[in-house]
Amino acid sequence: MSEIIITNLKVVAKHGVFDKEKINSQPFLFDCVLEYDFEKAAENDDLNQTLDYGNIMQDISDFCLNNQFDLIETLCYRSAEMIINKYSVKSVKMTVKKPNAPVDLDFENVGVSVHLKRRDVYLSLGSNLGDRKAILDSAVKTLSANRAIDLLQVSPYYENPPYGGVAKYPFINIAVKISTYLSPYALLDFIHATEAKENRNRDVRWGDRTLDIDIIFYGDEIINENGLTVPHSDYVNRDFVLVPLAEIAPDFVCPLKRQRISELLKQLLTKK
Ligand code: ADP
Ligand code: MG
Repeated sequence: MSEIIITNLKVVAKHGVFDKEKINSQPFLFDCVLEYDFEKAAENDDLNQTLDYGNIMQDISDFCLNNQFDLIETLCYRSAEMIINKYSVKSVKMTVKKPNAPVDLDFENVGVSVHLKRRDVYLSLGSNLGDRKAILDSAVKTLSANRAIDLLQVSPYYENPPYGGVAKYPFINIAVKISTYLSPYALLDFIHATEAKENRNRDVRWGDRTLDIDIIFYGDEIINENGLTVPHSDYVNRDFVLVPLAEIAPDFVCPLKRQRISELLKQLLTKK
């Protein structure tokens, strides 16, 4: 792993909650660490094979000058987003410090920091009410329209009987691979908003639904807190998840089971 590191890039700008901060400029100090593989550039000693840190610093400076935010949190997150999207690096750690923040105490700096990291995420989508294919297509479109999400792969449609004994109508299911720097919880929120947009009704658990989106894998992270379980708690028992998933990611290894998707599917099908 290699990194490009910028520290204490000073930009004099007008961010802040108070009126006087919106009128009078004050310094903001940026630290930025980009995870970037520059082995090839180092081997060939070639500027064209690496990122030009001058351009990165100029972009941060322009972004800070061309926008105005109340919070350094917003300035920090949005400038990190601008860099990760523009330079397609794996991760960006951005820190913004405000040495002249309006606090009447003796301090050197106050600041915030965010670490955006791209991960490959696998989602399972299902619909058993309305125009099922159109709803799934529309959901995929909504996902890819989010600037924090890159759509990488979409499986074919699979028709499946209702699962779990509550839903009545047959489902169409697909699996989708995305790359995203949204945190797992931010992604879950966006998924819920996408379900709501397609008129998802949550009155009956496991009931009929226009759209259900589940996070199956979030990189190789194992998460089990605050109402989120990843890898998904029941995916190994669901052929409607594993069949489409095996189509786009047969060799992905489950971080929990440590088995490939194709093996897990084979096991499920022999059990049945
Ligand atoms: P289900 O998908 O089990 O039929 P819901 O879509 O209503 O039911 O999900 C219920 C809750 O499960 C969601 O509100 C969400 O917070 C939680 N949940 C836990 N783990 C996951 C996951 N991996 N993906 C999606 N939702 C999850
Ligand atoms: Mg769900």
